[in-house]
Amino acid sequence: MELITILNRCHRFRGFVYQHAHFSADKKSIEVAVRPRKGSAAVCSRCHLPAPGYDQLAERRFEFIPLWGFLVFLLYTMRRVDCRRCGVVAVEEVPWGDGKRTLTKAYMLFLARWARRLSWKETAEAFRTSWDKVFDAVEHVVTFGLEHRVLGQIDAIRFHIVAKMNKALDEIRAGESRRLASEGGVPVLKKPRWLLLKREENLKTEQRFRLSDLLRYNLKTVRAYLLKEAFQQLWDYNSPAWAGKFLDDWCRQVMRSRIEPMKKIARSLRQHRELILNYFRAQKLLSSGVVEGLNNKAKVTMRKSYGFRTFRCLELALYHSLGKLPEPESTHEFF
Ligand SMILES: [Zn+2]
Repeated sequence: MELITILNRCHRFRGFVYQHAHFSADKKSIEVAVRPRKGSAAVCSRCHLPAPGYDQLAERRFEFIPLWGFLVFLLYTMRRVDCRRCGVVAVEEVPWGDGKRTLTKAYMLFLARWARRLSWKETAEAFRTSWDKVFDAVEHVVTFGLEHRVLGQIDAIRFHIVAKMNKALDEIRAGESRRLASEGGVPVLKKPRWLLLKREENLKTEQRFRLSDLLRYNLKTVRAYLLKEAFQQLWDYNSPAWAGKFLDDWCRQVMRSRIEPMKKIARSLRQHRELILNYFRAQKLLSSGVVEGLNNKAKVTMRKSYGFRTFRCLELALYHSLGKLPEPESTHEFF
C-alpha cells in the first residue's frame, strides 16, 4: 500500500490531489507534494468563496502527523486570487491549514490532545517538534473552542427571546388599542407604545410617570408587559436547576394568562428549555473553571506548563485543560 493511498483515506480534500511522496535529502522526513485538482478554483481566504486565480507564491511546507519516526510534510504552492467581492488580491485558503501556521490542522489537533496529558515540553520532545509549535497547536484548538462554545449560540437565543417578546407586546397593544377605540374608550394605548417596549430601567422619569398611570388599567398589554419584565429575572440565576424552575413557573403563569401572543412565546420557550438551560450550565462550567483555577487541577496544569513564558500561555493551558471546549472537526480519528 502506498503512502498516497493512506493519505487519501485519512486526509482527503476536495479540489486537491496528492501527487507523489518521497524522502527528503537527509532521509529524515517524508515530503508529499500536493497540487490543486485540475479545474478547481482557489478559495479566497477573506470571504471563503471561490475566486479567479491571480498568481502563485513560493512553495510552503505544512507539517503533518509523523509516521513511523519520520516527519511528514505536505508541500504546496499557494495560489493567490483576484477576489472581486473583497476587492483585493488575497492568498488562497487551504482546508488543511490555518492561516500562516506551519502545522496542518490535523497535526495541531493531534498535538493539542497530547498536550492535555503531557506537559507542553514533553509533548514537543515526544513528537520531535518545538515548544512553540505545541503552543501554536493549543492556541489553534482553544481559539476554535472559544469561538464555537455553546455560549455564542446562547447569546443569539437571548437576543432572540427579547425580540420575540417585544413583537408580541406590540401585537397585543395594537389589538387592544383597536378594541378600546371601537368601544369608544380612552386612546390610552396610542402613545405609550415605546414605553412598554423599553426596559424599566431605561425609562426617563417623566416616561416612568406615564407608565405608572398606564399600569393602573387591567389591560392585557399591561399584564403582558409585567410578564415580560418578570422574565428578565431569569438571567440573574446562577444555578441551572433554579433557572429551570423559574422558567417553568413563568411559562405556567403565562399559559394561564389568556394572552395568546405571550402563550406562543411560552410554548417556544418550553420547546427550547434545554438549550436555554445550557446557557446556565455553560456559565457554571466557566465560573467553576475559574474556581478550579485556585485548586489542584489548575496547579497541576500550571506545573505541567513550566516554561510558560507569558500569561497568554497560562490562559491557553487553563482553557485547554479545564474549559471543556468543543474541538475542530477532523477528517480522521488520528490516535
Ligand atoms: Zn474574497
